[in-house]
Amino acid sequence: MTVASVVIVGAGAAGTAAATQLRTLGFDGDLTLVHGEGPVPYNRTAVNKTLLQPDARLESVRTVLPDDAPTVLLTGRAQGLDIPRRAVVLQDGSRLSYDAAIIATGARPRLLPARVGGLDGPALSGLVTPLRTSDDADHIRRLLADVGRRHERPARVGIVGASLLGSETADVLTTLGHEVFLIGAAADPMARRLGTTIARWVRKRHEEHLAGLIEARVDSLEVAGDGLRLALSNGTGLTVDLVIEALGVDPDVDWLRDSPLALDDGVLVDDRLRAVNVEGVYAAGDLARVEGSTRIEHWGHALAQGAHVARTVSHDLRRTEDPGPFGPSGSYSTWLYGKAINVLGSPCPRRDREVVLAPPGHETHVTVFTSAEHRVSAAVTLGSAKLANRLRPLVVARAAVEEVADVVTATLSPTSGV
Ligand SMILES: Cc1cc2nc3c(=O)[nH]c(=O)nc-3n(C[C@H](O)[C@H](O)[C@H](O)COP(=O)(O)OP(=O)(O)OC[C@H]3O[C@@H](n4cnc5c(N)ncnc54)[C@H](O)[C@@H]3O)c2cc1C
Repeated sequence: MTVASVVIVGAGAAGTAAATQLRTLGFDGDLTLVHGEGPVPYNRTAVNKTLLQPDARLESVRTVLPDDAPTVLLTGRAQGLDIPRRAVVLQDGSRLSYDAAIIATGARPRLLPARVGGLDGPALSGLVTPLRTSDDADHIRRLLADVGRRHERPARVGIVGASLLGSETADVLTTLGHEVFLIGAAADPMARRLGTTIARWVRKRHEEHLAGLIEARVDSLEVAGDGLRLALSNGTGLTVDLVIEALGVDPDVDWLRDSPLALDDGVLVDDRLRAVNVEGVYAAGDLARVEGSTRIEHWGHALAQGAHVARTVSHDLRRTEDPGPFGPSGSYSTWLYGKAINVLGSPCPRRDREVVLAPPGHETHVTVFTSAEHRVSAAVTLGSAKLANRLRPLVVARAAVEEVADVVTATLSPTSGV
């Protein structure tokens, strides 16, 4: 029997989870993980939370890969798929043959449109930066330190985009003593994700802690001295030392454009995470879109898809049972101003009714989203990861609002210790 060969492109959450799960399932064939970002795979969620700290070390957030069977970790970038010959083609021209190829190249940050100002100019481009990779974090750390050295003051940082990444980063940089201006186009940018009550809590904390929470778009941007001058759509201007782009992401599929893979806001996959139109190719993580659903861009989701795609590959290579369809939970957590925010399911404030369940005066907030049948389709908790863990199975089961309310009351009662 020939040895089966699996190539995983992308060593982020989904790619490394797939490698780990394949070995856990006893896959003993050739396994190659193509790592497009050196020097080691790492936890991307730490890029803004840990790697912006002045003494940050990449080693502290590196991903540990299974060492019980050799996995080749290859540094390089894939530039295409040769589907007829079943090979991944790398930028240096080398080819990796596969029986199964798992595409897990994640997403790329959206950047400010070039029309905003001469963004290509060398002076400007260094001071305007996305925050996705460890290199981006290193670059921002250097800029912050440089401002401190030259001006002996904290840096003035403009963050464009006030959703999760922008909000978390604003909190981190403010805690580090910098002056942060968070610029977003919507009044309550988090309401769509968290519901109005908890989004309002976030907004109030921003107003209390940041140098500015500005509802506007950036109209233009130019170098001013050794910083940047921003003209905003509300008619005001702002001078900062650097600008961080936190404008969301797009699936990183450009390298697949010449392949026949079906691409539609990501790689289109079936409910087992197989590419819908090409045999032997699979996808997981930020760039995978299950047919009929929307793409999800969260760490836990990418890990879960990575593990699931490995089970599907193992089944298709005739080693283990069919894992069944992937069931997205949509759950994720974030940490803002000292409080955990846990999102269970996928809130849809436009479709569902928002009900606030936390007792008045309690530090913890709970918002649930209910369907027309009074079933809970999603929930957001603020300040209690323990409560979130108790509510998770109820959200999955779409429990009745009354049942969820009882659990909230019991968990938050003064004798429960939460
Ligand atoms: C700063 C930051 C903080 C975040 N915080 C949170 C959080 O608190 N909670 C949460 O749920 N989510 C968070 N997220 C989102 C989360 O990190 C992503 O959803 C998750 O990393 C997606 O995993 P992935 O494996 O699909 O992609 P990625 O982790 O992006 O991995 C993709 C990998 O593929 C590589 N690659 C790309 N193109 C190629 C190529 N052509 N060849 C070879 N390799 C390639 C990339 O270099 C990368 O290493 C955060 C994201 C960022 C940027």
